[in-house]
Amino acid sequence: MISVEEALERILALVPVLEPVEVPLLDALGQAVAEDVVSPLDIPPHDNTAMDGYAVCAADTAGASEASPVTLRVVGELAAGYVSDRSVEPGTAVRIMTGAPMPPGADAVVPFEETDEPAGHSFGAFAKSRDVVGILKAAQPGANIRRAAEDVRRGQPIIPKGTVLHPAQVGVLASLGMATVRVHRRPVVAILSTGDEVVAPGQPLRPGQIYDSNAWSISAMVLENGGIPRRLGIAKDTVDALTAKLREGLDADMLVTSAGVSRGDYDVVKDVLAKEGEVDFWTVRMRPGKPLAFGSFASGGRRLPHIGLPGNPVSSMVSFELFGRPAIYKMLGRSDWPRPRVRAIADEPIENSDARRVYARAILTHREDGRWHAALTGPQGSGILTSMAFANAFAIVPEDVPLVRPGDEVDCMLLA
Ligand code: AMP
Ligand code: MG
Repeated sequence: MISVEEALERILALVPVLEPVEVPLLDALGQAVAEDVVSPLDIPPHDNTAMDGYAVCAADTAGASEASPVTLRVVGELAAGYVSDRSVEPGTAVRIMTGAPMPPGADAVVPFEETDEPAGHSFGAFAKSRDVVGILKAAQPGANIRRAAEDVRRGQPIIPKGTVLHPAQVGVLASLGMATVRVHRRPVVAILSTGDEVVAPGQPLRPGQIYDSNAWSISAMVLENGGIPRRLGIAKDTVDALTAKLREGLDADMLVTSAGVSRGDYDVVKDVLAKEGEVDFWTVRMRPGKPLAFGSFASGGRRLPHIGLPGNPVSSMVSFELFGRPAIYKMLGRSDWPRPRVRAIADEPIENSDARRVYARAILTHREDGRWHAALTGPQGSGILTSMAFANAFAIVPEDVPLVRPGDEVDCMLLA
């Protein structure tokens, strides 16, 4: 039996970072950029006004006040999106709207509020009605100007390789004029359920049968973590049936099976992996999820990693959380898989009967005492999927701690 850390290390050693692909900007949300993004331009591209008002020569406005306004001749108007064909000479001004490039010659913008222009004129109408403006307050050089490149300089590294794109960063890329960005290809994860008793949801259930939940919970986790699930269906518990189904997944980036890895008579996943591929390990010192087969198949000149999850629905999800999710992240070029952890007060006892690491399904709440508290989600059997369904954390009991008592502190890993 190997430790959780060693198991993860061995899995990640076999999982490659996938090649970069160019994708439309929005498809890159939540993906890691595959290379440093360097700005191809200045943002803003030109000096422009931060206010609606008048572009002026600041020196003209010296001494201006409500009592003695400075009168300037208005020589033009400029909306955002246009460039002035006139310079602002001393004694003149250009009426200008937020975002419009500064006209040559002007070195400050006086907002409407600091002029005698009455409120409420629509663009264009005022210029026709009057060709002078009174400035009521002196402007300093540079006032209300947004400088070219004050946000981003051309050639500046903006988003380092490996950054997982958030909405603001998608916006930054768009502001650089980029319609596409290079990210690591999403891994295709082939998912196969095994077991003579397992039936697909939607089918009638005969005596002795159960519905396949693992393929669905695992597919959902693959999807949620940025991978592309490809469900291969259900294989019977025979070497031949399993081998045939597995072959359908050999062109995926990772193969995930559930069940058939314990010591029962029909647990053939390990046998097939040993015969057709290479077994790396098959037990991990944890609860739930001790039986976990990991290995690889030769496929198209590469080694295709195979995680053989245990069949019990909770075990398979806990194992996939601890090992499958980091594997997907690595393929996506991400290193941010460790979940946040907090110390919490255990509200009930958590037992550890055989020196494994226990991942108890817990509901973590922040209470009036200012502390996090961990309550279990009910019976902790590895077949009780509802214990997982309402957990927001794993309360983790170390291998060498036989019992966490109510009131003890316990390490919790946040799931959401
Ligand atoms: P096994 O690992 O084959 O011994 O399976 C352990 C337990 O998990 C058994 O009770 C199985 O019936 C159950 N099980 C196996 N596969 C699935 C599945 N795809 N969905 C739900 N339960 C399963
Ligand atoms: Mg079985």
